[in-house]
Amino acid sequence: MVAKRGVRGSTQDDVRRHNLGTLLTQVHRHGQRSRAQLTAEMGLNRSTIGDLVAELTLAGLVIERSSGARGRAGRPSLMVAPRADGAYVIAIDLGVRHLIVGRIGLGGALLDRVELQSQGDWSALDITIDTVARTVHRLRAAAPAGSRCVGMGLSVPGIVRHGDGLLRFAPNLGWVDLPLGGKLADRLGSPVVVGNDADLAALAEHWRGVAAGYDHVIVLSGEVGVGGGIIVDGRPLRGRGGYAGEIGHLRVNPAGRRCRCGSLGCLETELGVEALLRAAGRPAETGLAGYREVIAAAAEGDGDARYAVTRVGRWLGAATGMLANTFNPDIVVFCGPLGDLFMVAEQCVLAACTETALVAPREQVRLAASAFGKDTMLVGAAEAAFGPLLEDPIGVIGGLAGSVPRQREATDLT
Ligand SMILES: [Zn+2]
Repeated sequence: MVAKRGVRGSTQDDVRRHNLGTLLTQVHRHGQRSRAQLTAEMGLNRSTIGDLVAELTLAGLVIERSSGARGRAGRPSLMVAPRADGAYVIAIDLGVRHLIVGRIGLGGALLDRVELQSQGDWSALDITIDTVARTVHRLRAAAPAGSRCVGMGLSVPGIVRHGDGLLRFAPNLGWVDLPLGGKLADRLGSPVVVGNDADLAALAEHWRGVAAGYDHVIVLSGEVGVGGGIIVDGRPLRGRGGYAGEIGHLRVNPAGRRCRCGSLGCLETELGVEALLRAAGRPAETGLAGYREVIAAAAEGDGDARYAVTRVGRWLGAATGMLANTFNPDIVVFCGPLGDLFMVAEQCVLAACTETALVAPREQVRLAASAFGKDTMLVGAAEAAFGPLLEDPIGVIGGLAGSVPRQREATDLT
């Protein structure tokens, strides 16, 4: 599957940069492959592929190694592989109650990872930026000498403006119109790509997760709230301002509870962590830990817990059915707490989806839990951070010692 991307100009140099980016993207996203495979996938001749591989090898981004198999004339068959030690990104997942920072190598290997839990939340901006910056410095300092950091990506549980990455609204953090990425970039002295957590989760699942190979994908995720990331025809659906996919704030129950966004009866109020705790008769303050206890108790057959997961699972299924009717996706992926819920309530989720969806789109949609565990947003933030390198490998590597480029926004980088 070759990443499609428009050639920016018509000069030979533009074409070469475009081809270098496409080749690097192939090995980064899909793993090592032979020159013959690359020749077929990219539709270029063997000598051009040879030149591109040579240039990326010189830049330290790929390596050719023996596959162990023998090719024609008995020579060892060589594979072009991404160099995990050739370039890395820093990925940051800022959740309502957690912070995960990872160092991820070219090719997607998680090289280092730090996870912190917040006692309250991150609503004090200065403290949050300070904590994130210190954690990033710690990971960068621990990287081997000579390692090259080629980007940083930040996942946030809020809606992010396309174009400048302004965090418009994060209801579960109480943040409105914050230049979070810009402030963090100033502090780190490096540009930071900012993306909505569910949008980044969708990219992670689409490129590396259970939705790999599918072009029509919806991801439902969230730690406290419920967010949606939508991919249509292989591209993220972002809407005019970048705010599309706020599935958690669809009003599904006009007689329902007050949502943090100010509305009444949003899907999030029926489906989020607090909804499950409420249904199980547990205090909301027990949070994610309490949520996981209810899930575990349901798996062991506890009656109250089974009642709660069935009730919330039916909302999850109904939401999925509405999404199937609207978008006709190949797959809907449940991440984080919703993935845990799907694992214990799969039958009632499927049944409610079938009741809600029309037959034709229901027949075509698959429902699945994410396989990334807690790291979905980290993977998505890393992929967004790799965007500039995959677009123009030689330009980024050549510019590492130069000036700091402007902040970019995640949904540009596909
Ligand atoms: Zn809402």
